[in-house]
Amino acid sequence: MTDDQLFECARQARERAYAPYSGFFVGAALLTMTGEVFSGCNIENASYGLSQCAERVALGNAIAHGSRQFQTLALCLQGDGSPCGACRQALNEFAPELTVLIGGPNGNIRQRLCLNELLPNAFGPQNLKTSSLPEPRNH
Ligand SMILES: [Zn+2]
Repeated sequence: MTDDQLFECARQARERAYAPYSGFFVGAALLTMTGEVFSGCNIENASYGLSQCAERVALGNAIAHGSRQFQTLALCLQGDGSPCGACRQALNEFAPELTVLIGGPNGNIRQRLCLNELLPNAFGPQNLKTSSLPEPRNH
């Protein structure tokens, strides 16, 4: 799958976004290491804090279908923007080396980044290895 094809999946996902409050529509498409694509769109809620980002919806969609290894995320949004901090952290859990393509609804990819540029010195699973956990105390 080409970057443009993946980006088209994100552009189509953006058309399904539910964003009646912000009017900020976002689509995401996550390409797995085996070539599958899982998409997501942002889903807002009248209780604003419950709103979900497109990136994490795509990630949850992929995880729920059994995929955990990813190579590229395409993100389609209007204007300038990149994944929020929470999404950077969520994506880092599974793919610290993820390629992130960002572009607008016109279909043009304007940025190509690596997740480790967006989230340097990330906290991740490696920080919670069991060998680094304190030994239980014996009484
Ligand atoms: Zn986000």
